[in-house]
Amino acid sequence: MGWNLDSVHDSERLLQTPLSLATNRVQRRYVGGMLLESLHGDASPRDSYYPEEWVGSTTATLFPGRPIEEGLSRVILPDGRETYLRALIEKFPELTLGRVHCEAFGPHLGLLCKLLDSASRLPIQTHPTRLFARQHLNSAFGKTEAWIILQTRRSQAEPPYILLGFREGVTAADFLAMARSQDVVALGAALNRVEVQPGEVYFVPAGMPHAIGPGVFMVEVQEPTDFVINVEYEYGGVRRTEEQCFLGLGFDVAMQCFNFDNVGTKSIEINKLSPQVVLDDTSVREEVLLGPSCAEFFGASRLAIHHTLQVYESGRPWIGMVVGGMGELIDHNGARALRPGSSFFVAAAARQYALRPSGNAPLQLIKCIPPTRFD
Ligand SMILES: [Zn+2]
Repeated sequence: MGWNLDSVHDSERLLQTPLSLATNRVQRRYVGGMLLESLHGDASPRDSYYPEEWVGSTTATLFPGRPIEEGLSRVILPDGRETYLRALIEKFPELTLGRVHCEAFGPHLGLLCKLLDSASRLPIQTHPTRLFARQHLNSAFGKTEAWIILQTRRSQAEPPYILLGFREGVTAADFLAMARSQDVVALGAALNRVEVQPGEVYFVPAGMPHAIGPGVFMVEVQEPTDFVINVEYEYGGVRRTEEQCFLGLGFDVAMQCFNFDNVGTKSIEINKLSPQVVLDDTSVREEVLLGPSCAEFFGASRLAIHHTLQVYESGRPWIGMVVGGMGELIDHNGARALRPGSSFFVAAAARQYALRPSGNAPLQLIKCIPPTRFD
């Protein structure tokens, strides 16, 4: 049957069920994506300049020369048509997000979650805080982010790693001098290098310098912007202007984004998070990956579903990404197949549905949730 999104009745009924999300790859400056395509079951996965999938996104990329809609998630209606998640939220904010969320953030999802697979090191960068974004970028959101490592691969003979936080002894004056002279080797060496393993979770507060190394496939959960302060003007064979690297803010203002407070191994200890098992019964095991300490920005859990999980209304929206196993999503429209790479949006108004694994292996999901603490 057809759905009329101008009909409140149709829309209320539509939002009672989880909505499938269309695959949503975006172009970036670095190469990757092979493990992302493998997850989706592609017959010949390969690396390209489409290393990311913006799974749950109401944010367009700031990539120059790309369509203005690039980055925006599309939901697939039960009749097969597609519509932008952002448009659906703007039209039905309380049904999609719930009243409490709308009172705090207005008709904005307040979250962006991605699959990101690097074959090369990403540029050294940081991101604005909410305060900085309000003052300089006319945005209520900055870009605090978190990384949930799914898989790794060895490339260029290097074990998979991330660069996170300043090394002990690096001062603001040192770092600014390296950035001014574009000493990329020194910039990289100024950050802590951390080898990473699947299952690990890192919190990356706005202001902390970082770069994802080659061979890391992750779920990135973040505030809903594409604001990046890049300190490498030349990257991937392309030379960018200061304007492009610094969001048009100029060197001096952009550099104020960097936070020099927590340096050395302390910054790693604080920001490497320990998953907490909160539920472990016959049908599901749930580990909270991004819990109360991150709730002002986002949240996330890892679910391993062993037997049918019946879900009743929660009044809160979330994004589900299938990262392992096969199964079905069952609601009043029937059953939809879930496989690795499948994703869906659950509106605050969603009522009664079930997630069922098929076969012996559990259905594994990453559940990403918008901020739940409003300061
Ligand atoms: Zn980043």
